Amino acid sequence: MNQPASTRPTSPFVSRYMGRSTFFRLLGFLLLGVLGWGTPYAAAEIPHHALRVTLEPDRGWIAVEDHLTLPPGQADWTFSLHADMAPRVTSGNATLIALGCQDHLERYRLVLHETSAPVTLSYAGKIHHELDPVQESLGRRREWTQGIISREGVFLDGASAWYPRFEDQLLTFELTIALPSGWLAVSQGAGPNAHPSEQGVSVRWREAEPQDDIYLMAGAFRFYEQATPIASAQVYLRKHDEALANRYLEATARYLDLYTRLIGPYPYAKFALVENFWATGYGMPSFTALGSEVIRLPFIPLTSYPHEVLHNWWGNGVYVDYATGNWSEGLTSYLADHLLREETGQGAAYRRETLQSYASYVRAERDFPLTAFRGRHTTASQAVGYGRTLMLFHMLRRDLGDRVFVEGLRRFYRDNRFRTAGFADLRRAFESVSGLDLGAFFGQWTTRTGAPALAIEAVSRIPTETGYRVSGRIRQTQDTEPFALRIPLVVQLKGREPMETQVDMRGRSTDFSLDVPDEPLRVALDPRFDLFRVLAPGESPPTLSSLFGADRGLILLPAAASPALREAYHSLAQTWSRDTPGWRTATDRELAALPKDQPVWLLGWENRFLAELTKRTPSFTLDPERRALDLPEGQFQDPEQSLALVADRGGLPPVGWIATEAPEAVAGLARKLPHYGKYGYLVFSGKAPENHLKGQWPTTDSALTVRLEGDAGPFELKPEAPLVRVLD
Ligand SMILES: [Zn+2]
Repeated sequence: MNQPASTRPTSPFVSRYMGRSTFFRLLGFLLLGVLGWGTPYAAAEIPHHALRVTLEPDRGWIAVEDHLTLPPGQADWTFSLHADMAPRVTSGNATLIALGCQDHLERYRLVLHETSAPVTLSYAGKIHHELDPVQESLGRRREWTQGIISREGVFLDGASAWYPRFEDQLLTFELTIALPSGWLAVSQGAGPNAHPSEQGVSVRWREAEPQDDIYLMAGAFRFYEQATPIASAQVYLRKHDEALANRYLEATARYLDLYTRLIGPYPYAKFALVENFWATGYGMPSFTALGSEVIRLPFIPLTSYPHEVLHNWWGNGVYVDYATGNWSEGLTSYLADHLLREETGQGAAYRRETLQSYASYVRAERDFPLTAFRGRHTTASQAVGYGRTLMLFHMLRRDLGDRVFVEGLRRFYRDNRFRTAGFADLRRAFESVSGLDLGAFFGQWTTRTGAPALAIEAVSRIPTETGYRVSGRIRQTQDTEPFALRIPLVVQLKGREPMETQVDMRGRSTDFSLDVPDEPLRVALDPRFDLFRVLAPGESPPTLSSLFGADRGLILLPAAASPALREAYHSLAQTWSRDTPGWRTATDRELAALPKDQPVWLLGWENRFLAELTKRTPSFTLDPERRALDLPEGQFQDPEQSLALVADRGGLPPVGWIATEAPEAVAGLARKLPHYGKYGYLVFSGKAPENHLKGQWPTTDSALTVRLEGDAGPFELKPEAPLVRVLD
């Protein structure tokens, strides 16, 4: 599987921390410093929950005593709580009034008769919401729940409203959980302080810095821990596996160190990997909940895992002001996924994939400005919310330079730790370190939809006394207003390193002219994909995502296949097109020709349209008689292998192909392929099936490259210096 998409779970009740004076914040931090642990953070400022919880997983039951300390001076409070809880005031001088129910939530009014004294609410009930599937795109589903207490495990968060949720309030908490013996519970901050008790085991967690949610996960976990100079590294597995635990403990130590040096102090006492009991990629404050299958993939500690660790700075250290747009996913992707690929010289390839995914999944009507990005609901919103934001930070870094960019990140973190922040706060931080007015930059990339599309034309070269003058014109060809851009321009020279410069562009069209010391062979616009823009023809080889991202299309079954294979292909088609009504299924006998207006999946070696795949001199050949496929890596002809690829149809929507001789492998292909969207061809082995080979088709010359000489020779650009160099 490819990197699991990851996100903080989005709750319908998003806390916001606004309109409080800096004085009180400072006072809170000072008090905390003086009084230390156990003291509610700024008792004078935000609610503190001291929770005693009993979990009975067998019957989905939770019982809670919440000893609440609320900021003084306010007598009247409203909160939401899970509707099956029937809360009562069991100590303190207060009245509780039920205000009405909406879905699984009940709203209450709490009237304090003595505003500075604590009050205890006691309640109990069942929380058991089954996992619900959410369709993201063709073949890609994930599951979520509003909260579940079961024999398999416990997952509760703010959306479950398992504790009283006061709107627009950050909070602090301490939490004692009674569990069956053999179980452990995980929450934010410091813990687990576990010891045997009468009923089984008692576990404590506490966090004194302002939080926007209280997470509670529990299960029959195996626990592993290792001290690091920064925080405790912890792993919670559902089965004993020391080697696996060690891989994550080591990765935790490594990334805590990297990001502390890059951005600033890690904000929590521990970081934990928690094995969840369904497939998730959630990043919570000081822990991550990943599914069993995902954590066992060998590359996860190097790819998705650092992303989840980094969310403790972005999203769970600085909270997101969702009302003005979620910046944290894009920034986390940029400084984790992109940063690590860039370290190995793959930055440009990563950015091209980002732009390609935007192009594949985002139709005009599915696009939205970043100020409207809340979480990740579909693959389209991920392509916009992660991709456009990621490119915003990349362009900002190029404009400011690596050092100033990193200074800006540090400033933003220092100024906004444990507060909610938005793009306006990011802009303020980068302006203060650079001295520049970044209003137009942030305005353009956060409030507009669409992307610039570039063209280069009228390129010429004339000899001069010192060499050559290269001139030409750059145009923006999209329907919408021109974007202000700083466009990288590279001139390949005979016998020398390429010359690189930038062209500032404000309007629809800009002429450029450049003196170069030697014979220019080729001119290329933005060859490293440094701008957020629409890819030009020739820049993007066909990938599976161009089919998975399509609203409609056709899945074509092979009538001539064996009954077992036909049956298997049929259920793949059903699984993929379920909840994606634009996709239909037919057999190859029903059609005289392939439709030209939509992408097509051809299934099977037996499909009578196989010849369509190789019509346009592609980089592979097929021999259906011998069941052999020739790829750049060699020939594949093994009945144990399953194949998938996508072929270009010269301007028409692409055609994909999936073939196997093992009907048992098809269910696994149906599940796995949607996660390999960025590839052009794939080979799997066995019945699971396991991925054996994955590749992207080579690109031809880009429409943004102009050759001035017929045989310009190879054009290799050096990758940019990785961002982590600033730490050297
Ligand atoms: Zn994320």
